[in-house]
Amino acid sequence: MIQLASLNQSFQPSTTLPLTAIIDTALCVGAGGSSGSLSDKPILKRADGKLIIPASQLKGRLRHECEKIARALGWAICESPVAETMCPQRAGLTGNFQHEHYEIGDRNPDGSPRHHCLICQLFGNPSLPARLQFSDLICTEDPDNTPEVLRPGVTINRRRRTAEEKKLYFLETSPANAQLPFTGEITLLPGTPYFAQALILAGLKHIHALGGSKSAGLGWLQWESSVFKHPEINDDIWEFLAAAPSPPSGGEP
Ligand SMILES: [Zn+2]
Repeated sequence: MIQLASLNQSFQPSTTLPLTAIIDTALCVGAGGSSGSLSDKPILKRADGKLIIPASQLKGRLRHECEKIARALGWAICESPVAETMCPQRAGLTGNFQHEHYEIGDRNPDGSPRHHCLICQLFGNPSLPARLQFSDLICTEDPDNTPEVLRPGVTINRRRRTAEEKKLYFLETSPANAQLPFTGEITLLPGTPYFAQALILAGLKHIHALGGSKSAGLGWLQWESSVFKHPEINDDIWEFLAAAPSPPSGGEP
């Protein structure tokens, strides 16, 4: 336990986690307002025609899942994405943020330590650069084998429980049930806290779908990565994550 407190202060060198998402159902990662397609919500592609899931989408989803896990373990976590409720401001939030685990050497102008929650230490906030770098997930299938599929939809008025008039739309998706692999990576930059990989892998396991219209069955996926099979994560790190500091001040683990 005594070493655990220092784990957080010791940082690891750059590491790359390779990731592949196998999309089980059709995928709809769209950008509204794009032109050159018959669809109202075209799918995102690179210039060479390969389908992509943008890095920003994966980063946002993973941050959200990691926040949920850390909170469930009892860690005080700030509220993203509004700057005022994020570390180091945390306006209106209560919690045991003034803890040594939340000190990473960052200082206020007066020299006092700034505290950043575990999530901000990885994903960053307006005053702290992110330690994690996400690449786009790129479909490795030849673009000739991923023809665009248009899927009609209708906007439902939830209150009246009827279809809205003139609200037929078209989503562009990848071909259904094609098991398309999308590959990319997450880079842990030098200085990433040691608990990062454990939290990232736990968070990824909670992401079962990406893109839009998940409730309509789009974008469901499975992760494939050697890092899941051989997670070289020390037991001390899991114990560290499980030993969140208790809320009253002086509550050392
Ligand atoms: Zn934070």
